[in-house]
Amino acid sequence: MSTEQSTFDLDSWRTRPALQQPQWDDPEEVRSATAELAGLPPLVFAGECDQLKERLAAVARGEAFVLQGGDCAETFSGASADAVRNKLKTLLQMAVVLTYAASVPVVKIGRMGGQFAKPRSKPTETRDGVALPAYRGDAVNGLEFTPQARRNDPSRLVRAYHCSAVTLNLCRAFTTGGYADLRQAHAWNQDFVAGSPAGQRYERLAGEIDRALSFMAACKIDPEEFHGVEFYSSHEALILEYERALTRIDARTGLPYDVSAHMVWIGERTRDLDGAHVEFLRQIRNPIGVKLGPTTSPDDALALIDRLNPDREPGRLTFITRMGAGRIRDGLPPLVEKVSQSGAPVAWVCDPMHGNTFEAPSGHKTRRFDDVLDEVAGFFEVHRALGTHPGGIHIEFTGDDVTECVGGGHEIVEDDLHQRYETACDPRLNRSQSLDLAFMVAEMYRE
Ligand code: PEP
Ligand code: MN
Repeated sequence: MSTEQSTFDLDSWRTRPALQQPQWDDPEEVRSATAELAGLPPLVFAGECDQLKERLAAVARGEAFVLQGGDCAETFSGASADAVRNKLKTLLQMAVVLTYAASVPVVKIGRMGGQFAKPRSKPTETRDGVALPAYRGDAVNGLEFTPQARRNDPSRLVRAYHCSAVTLNLCRAFTTGGYADLRQAHAWNQDFVAGSPAGQRYERLAGEIDRALSFMAACKIDPEEFHGVEFYSSHEALILEYERALTRIDARTGLPYDVSAHMVWIGERTRDLDGAHVEFLRQIRNPIGVKLGPTTSPDDALALIDRLNPDREPGRLTFITRMGAGRIRDGLPPLVEKVSQSGAPVAWVCDPMHGNTFEAPSGHKTRRFDDVLDEVAGFFEVHRALGTHPGGIHIEFTGDDVTECVGGGHEIVEDDLHQRYETACDPRLNRSQSLDLAFMVAEMYRE
């Protein structure tokens, strides 16, 4: 173990500029909430974080593919059996498509069980001439446009922990308790197959898998891997008081892990090298991600590697690029080239959502499915041209049939957006769009 890893200061971030932190009215309320959090059990174990790190090391070596996704902003009311199951089911279906059609091991990571805090481009929101504090995620305030709901309330941090626990518990039960058995691949699709081209395409693939499973069973091959899946949780490590309170020293290694999720990432707005977020995440031993937008220079990327992964530990660092469809083909190559020349192990993941958001005439924030697809295509082209590994996708999706992104197999148009626009923050792919995307990514991967 290097000295770099064994010395740490979990409060050094406090003297650095911390962007996007909620202003709380009463420091006593914050102290009481974080003290409560600090006494609560871990949501994940350090050993599981290490296991994910190993999986991501395989991604960095070009041997596996990341599927990371979930809501832009989880909500407390969304921590329900139906909503969690639908998201998980969609993620499992996408993973099956990728595993089978692209023949690659898929590392499944939910943006689930902790994605309750949002960075905002403006501190206030104005409607009909009334300005109120912006919604910062259910961990901070309420979405409803009233002064009461928009008050930043530290006790919400504790509620975010409990909703994370409920969500993770369900995910663990679903992914290990029989529901994620590959033999269930048809069952996940039952409510979806009629009337959905993506569902029908999936049904054919599930049929092929069934035949393959029967063949293997006849050969007396029935590995444990067919009966459950490894599932990991992740969220943006935004509110540092929360992440700090849930950081614990692992008894096995004596090292700190943020036990609020297996993986946490630093957002595009808070990745300042000398800022509090980089300083805090530098100290924890989880696998971590950093979002890289179109203004990132190759030197920024190298400096982040030096700061966040000085020992070049495989699987420690994932770069999640979110350039926009129009920029990825020019913006990504210099970063990938310089990082691969440096020899540092990095998993490259494409977030094709956040560079492609625009406002429809109706005022709804939306994304075009074709832009999402085009950014992923650009991501593959760039990595293929440079001989590097396109390591995965990071998406915002939901298991429900919402109308938030335009295009896709069902051809949602801008005039449809109002029908089922339910997101608390950014527009998500619905279930058909997500499955369509998985089929298309599998094709790109195979090429
Ligand atoms: C997000 O992932 O919801 C987000 C805000 O992303 P970014 O930091 O890339 O803008
Ligand atoms: Mn988002």
